[in-house]
Amino acid sequence: MTAIRQQDLIDSVADALQFISYYHPVDYIQALGEAYKREESEAAKDAIAQILTNSRMCAEGHRPLCQDTGIVAAFVKVGMSVTWPDATMSVTDMINEGVRRAYLDPDNRLRASILADPVGSRRNTKDNTPAVIHYEIVEGDKVDVTIAAKGGGSENKSKFVMLNPSDSIVDWVLKTVPTMGAGWCPPGMLGIGIGGTAEKAMVLAKESLMEPIDMHELLARGPKNPIEKLRVELYEKVNALGIGAQGLGGLSTVLDVKILDYPTHAASQPVAMIPNCAATRHAHFTLDGSGAVKLDPPDLAQWPDVHWKPSASARRVNLDTLTREEAAAWQPGETLLLNGKMLTGRDAAHKRIADHHARGEKLPDGVDFHNRVIYYVGPVDPVRDEVMGPAGPTTATRMDKFTDLMLQHHGLVAMIGKAERGPAAVEAIKRAGAVYLMAVGGAAYLVSKAIKASRVVAFADLGMEAIYEFEVKDMPVTVAVDARGTSVHHTAPRHWQARIGKIPVATM
Ligand code: SF4
Repeated sequence: MTAIRQQDLIDSVADALQFISYYHPVDYIQALGEAYKREESEAAKDAIAQILTNSRMCAEGHRPLCQDTGIVAAFVKVGMSVTWPDATMSVTDMINEGVRRAYLDPDNRLRASILADPVGSRRNTKDNTPAVIHYEIVEGDKVDVTIAAKGGGSENKSKFVMLNPSDSIVDWVLKTVPTMGAGWCPPGMLGIGIGGTAEKAMVLAKESLMEPIDMHELLARGPKNPIEKLRVELYEKVNALGIGAQGLGGLSTVLDVKILDYPTHAASQPVAMIPNCAATRHAHFTLDGSGAVKLDPPDLAQWPDVHWKPSASARRVNLDTLTREEAAAWQPGETLLLNGKMLTGRDAAHKRIADHHARGEKLPDGVDFHNRVIYYVGPVDPVRDEVMGPAGPTTATRMDKFTDLMLQHHGLVAMIGKAERGPAAVEAIKRAGAVYLMAVGGAAYLVSKAIKASRVVAFADLGMEAIYEFEVKDMPVTVAVDARGTSVHHTAPRHWQARIGKIPVATM
C-alpha cells in the first residue's frame, strides 16, 4: 500500500496549473515552429510569429499564455493499493483546493472564469473552482494525474454527432470544421472520440488532447492501423481546407489530430470532436508516496527562434482622432498599429448596454462610444509593475447580436476581437461603414505590452468584464471586415483552399 498525503496532491495540482499557465508543452511549440517555417500565407505567418513570441515571453516572465486561463479538467487514475491516511477532504476537494491555490497565487494570479448557477445568476466563484474531474480506479499503488486548463473559445466549438454505422467520419469532420470558424484559435489540435456512448465519446475526445503531438513521426513512419490511417487522412484533409492560423487562410489549421476509440453498440457510431487552441495547456504527474511533484521547467533553447516585431509597412492609426471616413480607407487583410485610447467591453458589458437602451436610459457618466473603438477583452489582473495582465481578444461572434445597436445608436467606428463575424454583424458593419479588426487569440501577453495605461470607466462590479479605457502604443491588429463588408475570414480560406487544391471549393 502507498500512503498519499493530502497536501502532496494539493501542492502538485497547484504547481502543475501554475506551470501550464506559462509554459506551452514543448511538443506543441516545436510543431508550431515547424508550421511557421512551412507557412506561405503572410497573414497566417505573422499570427504564428505572434503566438510563438508570446509563448517565449510568458515562459520567461511566468505570466499566462492567454487572458483566458481556462476551465480546469483533470483525468485522475487512482491505484487500488493507495491509502490516504491524513485525508480530511475528499480527493475532489483536494484537487479543487489545488485549483484555488494556483489561480489565487499572488505572483501569477490567473483569471477566474468559472460561473456557478449557469442558467441563473452566473455568479463568478472567484477562484476558478470547481474543476471537471474524471476518475478511473486502476490496479497499482500510484495516483496518476493529467491536468489541463481549457480555453472557453476552443471548448465552445466542441461538436458531437451520432452517425449511422455506415456514415463517413471523414465527411462529417470536413463538413463540420468550417462551421467552427476561427474562434478556437487555430493552429491547434483536433481531439476525436469515437464509440462508446454519447458521453463516453465526448470524454474520449477531451482525453485524446492530453497526448503529445507526434504527427510528424506518424507521417514519417506511415500509419500502422485504421485509427492512425484516419488520423493522417483527417490531418491532411483538414489542413487542405485552407482555414489557417486564426482563420486568416494558410497551410496550417491543425498540428495534429488525436483519436481515442471504445467499443460501441451495433446500431451506433458516436463521434465527438473537441478542438484545442493556441493556448494548449496540459501536464502529467504521478504521486508515488514520496512527496509532492514539482514539474521541471523546460529548456527555452527548445523554443523556435522567432521574435515578432511590428511590420515597418504597417499603417499607424491615431485612435484619438479617428473617424469612420478614415477607417473606410483600410483594406481587408491590412495590418494596423493602433495608438491612443480605446474602450473595452465583452459579453456582460454589452448585455448591460443593451438593457440600458431597452429601458431608454443613458449610459453611465464617461461612457461614450461615438468615434471610438471597442476591444472585446476580459484581461488578467496586473501583478507587480504591470499596467495590465495578459489581454488578448475574445471571440467576436458573441457580440454579433449587439453590433447593430453599438454602431447605429452608440456611434462606434471599429471593434476589435478574434475570429470571424456572423452574416448579420457583417451586414451591420457594411451598413454603418464601420470596421472590424482582429487581434491574435493566443498572443495575450504580447498584446498586453502595447497597453501603456488603463482605468476602469464603468461597470466595475463586472470585474474582468468591466468597461476599461486602455491607452495603447502600436497594438497590432488586422482589418478583418472592411467598411464595404468584405470579410477576410470568408475570402482568405477559400483562396488558400483553392491554392492547396486538394479539396474542391464550392461555388456560391
Ligand atoms: S488561445 Fe484562443 S481559444 Fe485558447 S484560451 Fe486563448 S482566446 Fe481562448
